[in-house]
Amino acid sequence: MRIRLSIRETRGEFVKRVEEISGQEILACNQCGKCSAGCPAAMAMDLLPSQVIRLVQLGLEEALTSETIWLCASCLTCLSRCPKGVDLPRIMEALRQLVLRKEGDRLELSALPVDFLSEAPQLAIVAGSRKYLS
Ligand code: SF4
Ligand code: SF4
Repeated sequence: MRIRLSIRETRGEFVKRVEEISGQEILACNQCGKCSAGCPAAMAMDLLPSQVIRLVQLGLEEALTSETIWLCASCLTCLSRCPKGVDLPRIMEALRQLVLRKEGDRLELSALPVDFLSEAPQLAIVAGSRKYLS
């Protein structure tokens, strides 16, 4: 991957949108890795949480194509471990919002089997709807 390190990318529109939606300062992250070390979902992710934020710091929209942003369970473990107070779950949410606004819903509720809907915990359905629908 060719990476261009210039102010145009690192302070570009993409980074500003993520900061605006998440309310977080992307450059506050010093890449210590504590978030990734404690993330309970890291084993299933294609990129570690700290790698996702690194892509954003570099202004690389590849962060939007990572499965990690959908696997993040918003459990807040990373926030509790972060020495810089970076709210990574909010950044993950901002990235999901950018994808949903551009590409539309990731879930079709009407396509879910009735059996599943009647047995699934209501909380899971509500949480899934908020995460995967724009
Ligand atoms: S724990 Fe915080 S500072 Fe460290 S890599 Fe993760 S987000 Fe960045
Ligand atoms: S909020 Fe997401 S990225 Fe952070 S520890 Fe939990 S699953 Fe991992």
